[in-house]
Amino acid sequence: MYGNQVRLQTAQELLKRYYGYDGFRSGQAEIVSSVLDGRDTIGIMPTGGGKSICYQIPALMQDGLTIVISPLISLMKDQVDTLCSLGIPAAFINSTLPFEEVKERFDKARRGEYTLLYIAPERLESDLFAALARSLRPGLIAVDEAHCLSQWGHDFRPSYRAIATFLETLDYRPVVTAFTATATPEVIEDIAKSLSMKEPGVFVTGFDRTNLTFTMVVGEDKRDFILSYLKTHSGQSGVIYAATRKEVDGLYEFLRKKRYPVGRYHAGLSDAARTRAQDEFLFDETQIMVATNAFGMGIDKSNIRFVIHYNMPKNIEAYYQEAGRAGRDGDPGECVLLFSSRDIQVQKFLIEQSVFATDRKHNEFKKLQAMVDYCYTTQCLRSYILHYFGETAPEYCGNCSNCNQSLERKDITVVAQQIFSCIVRVKERFGMKIIAGILRGSRDKRILELGLNRLTTYGLLKGTPEKDIVGTMQTLVADGYLKVTEGQYPVVRLQPPAIAVLKNEAQVFLKVLETKKPVEQDDELFARLRSLRKEISQRENVPPYVIFPDSTLRELAAHQPANKAEMLRIKGVGELKFAKYGEAFLQALREFSS
Ligand code: ADP
Ligand code: MG
Ligand code: ZN
Repeated sequence: MYGNQVRLQTAQELLKRYYGYDGFRSGQAEIVSSVLDGRDTIGIMPTGGGKSICYQIPALMQDGLTIVISPLISLMKDQVDTLCSLGIPAAFINSTLPFEEVKERFDKARRGEYTLLYIAPERLESDLFAALARSLRPGLIAVDEAHCLSQWGHDFRPSYRAIATFLETLDYRPVVTAFTATATPEVIEDIAKSLSMKEPGVFVTGFDRTNLTFTMVVGEDKRDFILSYLKTHSGQSGVIYAATRKEVDGLYEFLRKKRYPVGRYHAGLSDAARTRAQDEFLFDETQIMVATNAFGMGIDKSNIRFVIHYNMPKNIEAYYQEAGRAGRDGDPGECVLLFSSRDIQVQKFLIEQSVFATDRKHNEFKKLQAMVDYCYTTQCLRSYILHYFGETAPEYCGNCSNCNQSLERKDITVVAQQIFSCIVRVKERFGMKIIAGILRGSRDKRILELGLNRLTTYGLLKGTPEKDIVGTMQTLVADGYLKVTEGQYPVVRLQPPAIAVLKNEAQVFLKVLETKKPVEQDDELFARLRSLRKEISQRENVPPYVIFPDSTLRELAAHQPANKAEMLRIKGVGELKFAKYGEAFLQALREFSS
């Protein structure tokens, strides 16, 4: 279609003019084009994939107002600051504002002074407020973090229901768009249904984040690991996620005493303390944030270089979303998961204690098992994740700990056969602990009572610690030889590949891992540009990455543009950014090269 192509070209020009980007990323152009066609659209993209631009560019291209519904108050201000710094008029309305200010912003919106207006969903629960929002007659609605609409999602928020009510009470239908990083079919269906979308365009874009390295660390002392990791990554921003508040507090104190620039964030802290911790992190005043999963949804800090999980999270969706906060600027980011089998017990406990209905719990256990498998697999971690999200992926990525390390391939066929035949002997009726107990010849009361000490497999692995046998079984689960049933009393079952091994038709290999940590060195010019950015940030009171992302500083350091024309070719430098900061950075570059 001719008209469509012209529109898309205009969209590209706006992308260059306002954001300084040369082209759309994969998926963005399709989404933008669907929205510009006036079609309801669901965009599914991994964290850091670039969802915001998918509604911001269409917002710039239509006459009416665009209302963005976004769940977190803290993130709104951040996004609005970013837009304003690009020269796109925007504002937010949430409960932090006094009523007078709200009224004023509504008046301005009615006069057409904003392109985008960000609103917290709970505001729409008030009839008065919803009526005011209706009177703005928005042409485009964007629901960000739309998985919050779904009961099946990992972060359901009741206040999101107010969006549907709001849409129903409009006397016309605006173009409705929704964005999330969660791609499961139930969630997508829930989103379409609750927003009453008719035949929406659904675009799932590549989940692969090639700039991220995935590293799995099993059974190492977690604190020792953190200390040595931080030593080789000083000056870099990173998040350390832990499973509980208590664990966050403990690790925070530990690092603080060692004088690391660290902040903490969890739901047990006061609003003021959380806001302060977040701001210090956004402004690069603290480099390390220790937090529960309460931290980070929608945090757009683009220069996070690493995300370490101190504990295994509850499922792959949550993991990929949290880990994906690293490297949003496209520069390398590292995602490390420190796993110990105790983490499994914690997550199981949380599911059992939850108020979910039985089928929901069942579903959560299933997702948890996939997460556990990720921790034990010896295959490429990236391909594991991409397969989980239904994508095809090569078996080797060369950029994860399972692909990278000099792996020793160990033939464990005999041990695997012993484990499998023990499972056959007990007729697949027991869990891992009992099977390990039988194999190591345990005198455990339960084993003796059940007469399991009379099995021919009893004591076959005498002298091997229980945790090693269980660990091997976990890997055999992860690699598809065994299956653990769901629920509170899981039992181990054989899968078809195990039968072949029992018949001596196939061998089993285990890869033994060694972790090595890459060291990154910032060069001098980059450091100079970074400190200039920091000065400007303090003067203007905006986070450093709002001025320029790390990737732009890196390109500036690499290409060292000498004038405006050259500088505009750098990714992330648009007209407005140049007008504001261009000369200062050119000056710094000149000083450096003279
Ligand atoms: P998310 O999908 O998690 O909401 P964002 O919209 O916050 O991601 O975008 C993540 C980062 O990627 C931002 O720094 C953004 O400016 C950048 N980005 C988005 N689209 C492009 C593009 N086409 N070219 C270069 N950078 C982009
Ligand atoms: Mg986002
Ligand atoms: Zn890999």
